[in-house]
Amino acid sequence: MLPDAQTPPDASPDGGALADQLGRPLRSLRVSVTDRCNLRCRYCMPHEEYVWLPRPELLTFEEIARMVEVFTSLGVVDVRLTGGEPLLRRDLPHLVRMIAANPRIHDLALTTNGVLFAEHAEALHAAGLHRVTLSLDTLRPERFTALTGRDTHAQVLAGIAAARQVGFPKLKLDTVIMRGVNDDELADLIEYGRGVEAEVRFIEYMDVGGATQWTAEKVFTRAEMLQQLASRYGMIEPLNENSSAPAERFRLPDGTVFGIIASTTTPFCKTCDRSRLTADGFWYLCLYAQAGIDLRQMLRAGATNEELAARIASVWRARTDRGAELRAATGQRGALVGIEQLRQDPHLEMHTRGG
Ligand code: SAM
Ligand code: SF4
Ligand code: SF4
Repeated sequence: MLPDAQTPPDASPDGGALADQLGRPLRSLRVSVTDRCNLRCRYCMPHEEYVWLPRPELLTFEEIARMVEVFTSLGVVDVRLTGGEPLLRRDLPHLVRMIAANPRIHDLALTTNGVLFAEHAEALHAAGLHRVTLSLDTLRPERFTALTGRDTHAQVLAGIAAARQVGFPKLKLDTVIMRGVNDDELADLIEYGRGVEAEVRFIEYMDVGGATQWTAEKVFTRAEMLQQLASRYGMIEPLNENSSAPAERFRLPDGTVFGIIASTTTPFCKTCDRSRLTADGFWYLCLYAQAGIDLRQMLRAGATNEELAARIASVWRARTDRGAELRAATGQRGALVGIEQLRQDPHLEMHTRGG
């Protein structure tokens, strides 16, 4: 424990949070609890076989909770559990319970593909998970199978239903839109979201590590999404929220709100307060970063919380990352890394560092 639970050691004299070189605070931590997944989404894990992180190197629940404790001592208030597929990590509700006991956390969320969610929803809710975001790219079972390589669409829909039944507040549904794959389903997904009281967020296909089949032509852009929805619903009102959240939110004439995460064509690095901890304890300052900081080694070598906090603070203060903006400025844009390089360094994978 740090000496004073209320005052982060690196808070600035005016009481503000620790900030990086671009003035961005350290507020949000995404914790990947496993690199494994039970789907093979074409935009994330298009291959069947992967090189997995060695099991002894995965952080234990105690180690994860301790890392979260250190990060929250520096100003992190939003924690999101992700993966890979986080529900493949055994006893996840136990980890949720440990993290939920940390009073500095305002928002404890989970991102899941939903396949196993129905069977764990009750336990996760009881353990203190605040919110859940489920990924749903299509309402058509055969399209789901083609897109994910698995025949588990019904389980995902059951997971969405279970989230509401056990009492989670309004859900978010994340949908990656790919041209020629599911770009004809935007309105259907909004209608479905309305029915299950979920806010749908459309995500542009990103050229992150893992997206080895990425091409610019397959990106269905924010502008195209808005155009398609306007031709169906009429005037779309931007909510113009002043927030660091990745999604830009809009309202349809009937009041339905949806979001767009346009990292590819309209990056939002300027307000990025997120960083990522992999299941084996590497800390990444950007989704596009080529290297991370090995915090597991420090942890297992006996570093105190204060030493870990000092290291994290000094790295964050030096941070200049704005990966998506730099990618957007690239003229000839293709896949970020090839499959051979990914096999040599699985940390470059989106499914390893957590989406
Ligand atoms: N397996 C969980 C899931 O799918 O919800 C959590 C991890 S997944 C890496 C987190 C998010 O990353 C998902 O919503 C997924 O749609 C998104 N994602 C993965 N690859 C992407 C890509 N190439 N472009 C845009 N979003 C991507
Ligand atoms: Fe799909 Fe998530 Fe698995 Fe990636 S990690 S393949 S997005 S379910
Ligand atoms: Fe943040 Fe990097 Fe994503 Fe930009 S590309 S929003 S800096 S994680």
